[in-house]
Amino acid sequence: MEFVKAYDPELGNMIEAEYKRQQRNIELIASENIVSEAVMAAMGSVLTNKYAEGYPGKRYYGGCECVDEVERLAISRVCEVFGAKFANVQPHSGAQANMAVYQALCKPGDTVMGMSLDNGGHLTHGSPVNQSGLLYHIVSYGVDDNGYIDYDAVRDMAKKEQPKMIIAGASAYPRAIDFEKFAEIAHEVGAYLFVDMAHIAGLVAAGLHQSPVPYADVVTTTTHKTLRGPRGGVILTNNEELAKKFNKAIFPGTQGGPLEHVIAAKAVCFGEALKPEFKAYQQRVVDNAKALAAALQNQGFNLVSGGTDNHLMLIDLRGTGVTGKELQRRLDEVYITANKNAIPNDPESPFVTSGQRIGTPAVTTRGFGKPEMLHIAEFIWQAATDFDNKADEIRRNVCEICSRFPIY
Ligand code: PLP
Repeated sequence: MEFVKAYDPELGNMIEAEYKRQQRNIELIASENIVSEAVMAAMGSVLTNKYAEGYPGKRYYGGCECVDEVERLAISRVCEVFGAKFANVQPHSGAQANMAVYQALCKPGDTVMGMSLDNGGHLTHGSPVNQSGLLYHIVSYGVDDNGYIDYDAVRDMAKKEQPKMIIAGASAYPRAIDFEKFAEIAHEVGAYLFVDMAHIAGLVAAGLHQSPVPYADVVTTTTHKTLRGPRGGVILTNNEELAKKFNKAIFPGTQGGPLEHVIAAKAVCFGEALKPEFKAYQQRVVDNAKALAAALQNQGFNLVSGGTDNHLMLIDLRGTGVTGKELQRRLDEVYITANKNAIPNDPESPFVTSGQRIGTPAVTTRGFGKPEMLHIAEFIWQAATDFDNKADEIRRNVCEICSRFPIY
């Protein structure tokens, strides 16, 4: 940062401003985290200079002997972390990984079942504004009145629609997902099961959530959420024939040259995930989420599904007098970062929403524990119910807490 500031002050000052924002704010966006210095250093390395279209040992460029080793290391580590036989570590993002899976397993127009966006699914699971929804015939499932996936309803839908592929996984689902049951349903109707475990990958790596790898035909993940690595994606499978299809779908199907510097940072992250400290960290993420969910309920909030099994929770703001958009704005003003999120049967538009998604991965990395969770719940309640009187006090308290838990 200091180097960039000296070399290019205009940009350097912007990076420094973001660094200060991260130091000052309580980060509750469920999909964010704070990476290690080694992950950052690998991303800022000479590997960014190298073109390496293709795969280790089969490249379209010379001089790939070093990046081949880097990519092989990332592959072997991620296979070890998740107990998978094959991995592609080249997807530039989770969305890229997902689109490659569609391309490998489906033809445009095929029927695909995914969780709807407003019930917790991701854009790439078939939203009409996403390439997935534009190219494929999407049939969406959702959650029941209690906020849980209704597996019988999913089975009935699968039998009726006969999809080519079923997607399990979510961006805003606070409960454990039964991947074994999803596999049973998918295979009963002759569909592929594609699990997108982006949000919970860190929990899966630590053994704190059922792994989809033994059950699904293919699993994708991002590497930057609970997994705490660089921004990027991965595709995993135990099926050699499918592995070849995914490789083709990434390169040359949907991407050009791999980002070997990011792949190196993924290798660092996977190495970290193999250490006992990582499991202890993920346990604290889950413990903090449970403590925060209980504290929010004690303050008076309702949570979708009544709590959480993982790293995130969804506040149902109906009846509180604030929308998701307004609460996000107020929290921003008191240095707490979260995001508005649609809740099941949301009466508000997706730009306004009646929900707030809250996650504990980043604050847990920072060292926050149960006492801080109790404070956070109180701040959010005050921001929702008595903002004008409490804003200055919350801001002071947030600054005080963050100063006790510096990042980097
Ligand atoms: N899959 C899920 C479940 C996600 O929540 C996200 C991102 O939020 C993605 C995929 C997409 O990841 P990316 O933003 O890296 O494209």
